[in-house]
Amino acid sequence: MSVDFLIKKAKEIKIVIDNNAPEIEKLDQEIGDGDHIFNVQRGIKLVIELEPIIKDLPMSEALNQIAMKVLSGIGGSSGALFGTLFMTMGKSSDIDVGVDYKKAINMFAYGVEAVKQRGKADVGEKTMMDVLIPVANCLKQGIENNKDLKDLMREAIETAEKGMLSTKNLLATKGRASYLGDRSKGHIDPGARSSQLMIKTVCESILNN
Ligand code: ADP
Ligand code: MG
Repeated sequence: MSVDFLIKKAKEIKIVIDNNAPEIEKLDQEIGDGDHIFNVQRGIKLVIELEPIIKDLPMSEALNQIAMKVLSGIGGSSGALFGTLFMTMGKSSDIDVGVDYKKAINMFAYGVEAVKQRGKADVGEKTMMDVLIPVANCLKQGIENNKDLKDLMREAIETAEKGMLSTKNLLATKGRASYLGDRSKGHIDPGARSSQLMIKTVCESILNN
């Protein structure tokens, strides 16, 4: 995995998120304040615009620049949480001497663990963690068991989808949706949906390569 790969994936993610923007906006209008899609679209735009600045940087520095942009440029919970994800991924060991898929998975899992600590949310609280944590666990288990990469990508896509759908009937206990109490039930969490779409996009592009 290279910095070029990250930029390419950001461009692919932009298309998918833009195509699903009305749905994501509606989800955050139902249980949040409606700005989640705006935050996500702005974040993706900022990352893509960094291309000329980061394209020749070592992975750790490129991820750090992405994190800084996301942290300073996006509002809402998403800015802090995705900023933490990229900043921590950039601190993974040995990433400037080449990143194979095992290292990439470890980077992602390391980042997700930091997001969990930052937001203090676990599985079952109706947030993006209902997607990120199971996917990180599935990927880590996959590499420990030397699973075929394409099978693992299929499994991650399914795990993300299952996690996203699980948020529908959950009671929100973290974030803005928690203010709604029982009324948060019956709606998919917007952050879970956007995260699931991003994971699906990256995994599908690896599957089709
Ligand atoms: P805000 O809620 O501040 O308006 P966004 O609308 O950008 O921020 O993002 C909302 C999403 O953030 C939620 O759908 C949820 O998935 C996620 N979220 C909120 N609080 C937390 C938390 N403590 N940990 C993890 N994710 C969270
Ligand atoms: Mg919001």
